[in-house]
Amino acid sequence: MKDQSALGFPAPAIGALLLGLAVVTCTAPRTGATDAARRGTLRRFEFSLARMGTTFNIVLYHTEEEAASKAAMAAFSRVERLEAIFSDFREDSENLRLCRLGAGMPRAVSPELYFVLENSLKFSQLSGGAFDVTIGPVVQVWREARRAGKAPDPGRLAEAKKSTGVENIILDGEQRTVQLLLPRMRLDFGGIAKGYAADEALRVLKSRGIRMALVDAGGDISIGSAPPGQAGWRIEVRNGLEARGERVSMVLHDLGVATSGDSFQFLESGGARYSHIIDPASAVALKNSPGVTVVARDAITADALATALSVTPVEQGMSVVESVDGASAAIVSRSEKGAEWRVSRGFPLIQRQREELRTAGPQRANHN
Ligand code: ADP
Ligand code: MG
Repeated sequence: MKDQSALGFPAPAIGALLLGLAVVTCTAPRTGATDAARRGTLRRFEFSLARMGTTFNIVLYHTEEEAASKAAMAAFSRVERLEAIFSDFREDSENLRLCRLGAGMPRAVSPELYFVLENSLKFSQLSGGAFDVTIGPVVQVWREARRAGKAPDPGRLAEAKKSTGVENIILDGEQRTVQLLLPRMRLDFGGIAKGYAADEALRVLKSRGIRMALVDAGGDISIGSAPPGQAGWRIEVRNGLEARGERVSMVLHDLGVATSGDSFQFLESGGARYSHIIDPASAVALKNSPGVTVVARDAITADALATALSVTPVEQGMSVVESVDGASAAIVSRSEKGAEWRVSRGFPLIQRQREELRTAGPQRANHN
């Protein structure tokens, strides 16, 4: 989230350029490194990479800088591979190539695309259609509107809406194929792919024996085991309450967490503030969208549910999240009366306190 130029996924050139300049940074202290490794002392390392319209941050603990760095590079390679599959900006992404083939035959897809599409349809069903991976044609119209600075023509929205609907996707798990039934369909993984990529990056780190790690894909966070001597990773959430000087934080491990909201990506037109999240029932972007934080077993679930719960009425959202094992949510809804805060059963809030207004990103993983 959070980069106004990056609605969904960004133009690839920028990311590629940054990578060429070695965006990956390591903030570990250099002095005494060999001593620390010899003694087997765990040190904290941090790496970052611009991808998928956001910055991926990895924080991990390891005794050796070289092994830490190699593991982070491997995790980032995985993120790059996933961007090449899911991107909505890169014309050569597997997603856009599939959509260009259009309606008709079942087409074989990668295991990753199949998995995320299958999950997308599951979350669609769970949320009564609030999460809709077929919303692409409508998102395109709103993206243009945002560039033009005015709300889109209702006729164009109605036309785009005709090419949506999850019932127009047929999956075959045995053949691993996807069949699109309507012309001009466009899949948009902007509400789920970053969470999946964070999970996958964490999985790569774990495969190299690194469990004390966290991957933050700009607010969609996959969290591993607790840092040394800590109960968990302290996560601060910016979900709208900070506007009145309240700070929300949690201490978590082995979970996913995501926050959706319109703090950075929105269109202001005719006195209304439209979010980058669309209500699939009307094809209209949300106005006064709530700040939604979801904690779940993994980040793909947290990411998709945070988007879905932005669309559903609060009560419905609460029962959706409570129907998912291990998931919980905090919703800050906004109206003329101000912000209203609701939490579902089991939300692992540890702190909600007043403090000075902060200017950092919408959600961040604190140093531990
Ligand atoms: P962010 O990308 O800011 O973290 P989200 O995870 O909520 O926020 O994803 C928003 C993106 O999801 C939009 O930019 C768009 O690409 C896509 N999207 C918009 N509306 C929906 C929807 N109803 N269901 C699924 N995806 C959506
Ligand atoms: Mg999401």
